[in-house]
Amino acid sequence: MASALRNISWSRRFATHSSVQGFNGAVGNTPLIYLKGLSKKTGSHIYGKAEFQNPGGSVKDRAALGLVRDAEERGLIKPGGTVVEGTAGNTGIGLAHVCRAKGYKCVIYMPNTQSQEKIDLLRMLGADVRPVPAVAFENPQNYNHQAREYAISIENAIWTNQFDNIANAKAHYETTGPEIWEQTKGQVDAFICATGTGGTLAGVGKYLKEMSNGKTQIWLADPPGSVLTSYITSGGRLIERSGSSITEGIGQGRITDNLGTFISELSGAFTVPDSKSIEMVYDLLDSEGLYVGASSALNVVAAVELAQRLPKGSNIVTIICDGAYRYQTRLFSKAWLRSKDLEDAIPPHLKKYAVL
Ligand code: PMP
Repeated sequence: MASALRNISWSRRFATHSSVQGFNGAVGNTPLIYLKGLSKKTGSHIYGKAEFQNPGGSVKDRAALGLVRDAEERGLIKPGGTVVEGTAGNTGIGLAHVCRAKGYKCVIYMPNTQSQEKIDLLRMLGADVRPVPAVAFENPQNYNHQAREYAISIENAIWTNQFDNIANAKAHYETTGPEIWEQTKGQVDAFICATGTGGTLAGVGKYLKEMSNGKTQIWLADPPGSVLTSYITSGGRLIERSGSSITEGIGQGRITDNLGTFISELSGAFTVPDSKSIEMVYDLLDSEGLYVGASSALNVVAAVELAQRLPKGSNIVTIICDGAYRYQTRLFSKAWLRSKDLEDAIPPHLKKYAVL
């Protein structure tokens, strides 16, 4: 199957999109890229769904479009209305595009720890960006609560609520999952990815499980500082939070409603240290020509790790969530790597890429 799949990727993308008009019609139908070097190394077949190819540049375009369409279908927003969301950035970028295309105003609350590139892009897309202190969900000043409060306070506005509105997972159940099933010709042994809202994992996981009659294993990968691995591996008894991560947009301190719809069906979970994720950012650039963000790199590390746990020859799919453009002043800066104690995580032959 691997050789057949290798031929799909890029050409399929361009064929699919040659006649598409406008942003919303261009979301999805991303290629599935065969990661040749890593597949060879592991003896399995590792694929990354190239979500950086979405017009807003990330996997979150799908959720953004799904959330707004759901609100429209339920009559919650009328022409000229305002879409408000709390987001680490990518959902905001997707929403800003969707709002431009549909004529809505877009207000984004985000933690002030996020990269400048994402803030700049949001503003260029016409969003009203409101950076707020990065405090825990329990704190009323958390960016999500501020987004909800603001949406309630104005007329004809919706808070899309990406974490707990399951229209998010539904978008992946209806698009990402079927695309993966079709692209692997139904031969997908395992799917693994990290979660922020849990929309991707729950939506894709549910679809693949249904289509494979429960055979496809679905795994969660976690960055340090997230509670999900300890929650899942302890059968829901223990929630521990320790450490933090350089990855953006993933890791959770609670079970969101999106993840909650699927968490009991997961085969397992494990944590990936930042040192491995950052090394994979560089390795993917060097060996596969892929310029990806840290959450994508974490997902690929996790797929390789999962390959060690499954029989040789397994087909393992993960998500390449976004490109490195959004993070390059961090990920490729020697000073930044040093400040995060990650300089030694980059092997000598890859250090040449740390050019900033
Ligand atoms: N990677 C990146 C870069 C993201 O921005 C997000 C969403 N915050 C994710 C992964 C996780 O996706 P999901 O919200 O569907 O769990």
